[in-house]
Amino acid sequence: MNIVLIGQPASGKGTQAEKLVEKYGLAYVEMGGILRKISKEDSDLGRQIKSIIEEGKLVPDQMTIEILIKHLENLNRLDGIIFDGFPRMITQAEAFEKYLAEKEKKIDLAIYLDLPREEVFKRLVNRRLCEKCGKTFNLLTKPSQAGDLCDSCGGKLVVRSDETPEKVNVRLDLFEQQTRPVIEYFAQKGILEKVDGNRSIEDIFAEIALRISRRNLV
Ligand SMILES: [Zn+2]
Repeated sequence: MNIVLIGQPASGKGTQAEKLVEKYGLAYVEMGGILRKISKEDSDLGRQIKSIIEEGKLVPDQMTIEILIKHLENLNRLDGIIFDGFPRMITQAEAFEKYLAEKEKKIDLAIYLDLPREEVFKRLVNRRLCEKCGKTFNLLTKPSQAGDLCDSCGGKLVVRSDETPEKVNVRLDLFEQQTRPVIEYFAQKGILEKVDGNRSIEDIFAEIALRISRRNLV
């Protein structure tokens, strides 16, 4: 089965993806990570992606899909995958479904981790990052034992450049404009499962596993 995981930033997608990989033996394809990795390469494509990311822009559809397909070819599989951070827009969803259909594969399930915008905003603006070792904290849910400093290395805790309140609002607006329609798109196809993301990690995962088994996907 192929699963698409959709959710706002800080909705807990990565954590749930990890658990899905473990339980169902899926391959994890995280689009943001793939793009960041390429952006560090010394190649034309790498430099192009790097400048797009640095300007805070989105990598164009066509480029994103080509990179994804290349990645899947290297993985040598088109099934048994969980996708995180893709598709982010309807145009990407359509193009990718067309590609899969040509290979007689499809997206079997889209899981949407639903959270109120205020909750996501709160989670994001309270995130802190150790500027020395990169350890992440959250003032509300995972504070440092050392107050203003990192409890691992004593480094200074800072706000990530795209997690200031202004930039968080821009990111959340983008989600509403571009990704919300993708959720509707999968709902119309009858493959969407909307899961309440405002619960414990274990409760959310149990719910996802239940939905998967109800659909006879495993
Ligand atoms: Zn640190």
